Amino acid sequence: MSELGLSRRRVLGRGLQFSGLGLATWALSSCDQGPKVVACAGPNNLTFSENSLRQASHYVEEAPDPAKNCTGCGFFTAGEGGSNCGKCEIFLGPVNARGHCDSWAAKKA
Ligand code: SF4
Repeated sequence: MSELGLSRRRVLGRGLQFSGLGLATWALSSCDQGPKVVACAGPNNLTFSENSLRQASHYVEEAPDPAKNCTGCGFFTAGEGGSNCGKCEIFLGPVNARGHCDSWAAKKA
């Protein structure tokens, strides 16, 4: 009986150790890895053709090259009040200031 109790205690102890390990792993994996990227227009808020155009142009919410993001693009109009979201003339809708697509063209000075 005491062996069974000890065994049960061990099993419970191991279970707690594993769940603690799992919790620690989850906590580490969900740590913030830099500023969050804002999605200015989710796919559910756009029409099929708007989504298709964005996909065909390889639009991303965060430019791989920060020097070539939407803020520096001639088709971009910044949002009001310092918003991360502005407007794109090509997509006729909201885009992330840090975004990028194949149509990127340097803003003229
Ligand atoms: S054309 Fe592309 S890079 Fe330029 S503002 Fe629109 S989405 Fe951004």
